[in-house]
Amino acid sequence: MPAISPNKPYRVGRSPTGLGLFATKPIKKGTKIIRYFGPLLDSKKKKDDAIENKYLFELTNRWTIDGSVRENIARYINHACKPNAESDVRPRKRKVFIRAIKNIEPGDEINYDYGTDYFKAYLKPIGCKCVACEKKRKKKRAEARAEKLRLKAKEKAKAERKALKEAEKRKAKAARARKAKEKAAQKLNGKANGAGLNGHSLNGHAGKTARSGISTGPGPTRARDISASA
Ligand SMILES: [Zn+2]
Repeated sequence: MPAISPNKPYRVGRSPTGLGLFATKPIKKGTKIIRYFGPLLDSKKKKDDAIENKYLFELTNRWTIDGSVRENIARYINHACKPNAESDVRPRKRKVFIRAIKNIEPGDEINYDYGTDYFKAYLKPIGCKCVACEKKRKKKRAEARAEKLRLKAKEKAKAERKALKEAEKRKAKAARARKAKEKAAQKLNGKANGAGLNGHSLNGHAGKTARSGISTGPGPTRARDISASA
């Protein structure tokens, strides 16, 4: 790791994405923190134009700073979508400074927005790991989890309602079946009682007739007649 003068308000340290630059002293909003520097590349020179790395800082159509050199401590500064610093570009002077756009506290990681081109080329394909994007992702994940739970609860309530409805249906069906059975039994009983009453009255009548026939029939009279004649 490169040596940094203790007078400087920053140090290189571990960040969630590798290495980063961290404040060691309070840095006031508007302060120049560090210069982003390296050899100037001239796009008109084939050799310069062929250089390709992640630390190229384009100043103008013609001039680009190659910040990949070891001495360029500013190359440790990571990108953030909601940064606490910015790149202050001076194309005429062919210089870039990183300047605080917020008050930065000791321990805070120093970040600036690398710009749309860098973001599209290097960060979007792998997913930006800056605090703001991580927060967004975390929020989205939490929302997705909550939505899943909500849907699950909804499904459960629906299933419970369905089960309850089916139980009620079964109950109603059973009640109807019981009622029908009772009705059928009542009808059968009624028929049996009716038939018994009728039979009794008929029997009674017949009996009376028979008895009256025996007591008042012509048989004995005729028998007496027969014995009398014999
Ligand atoms: Zn981001």
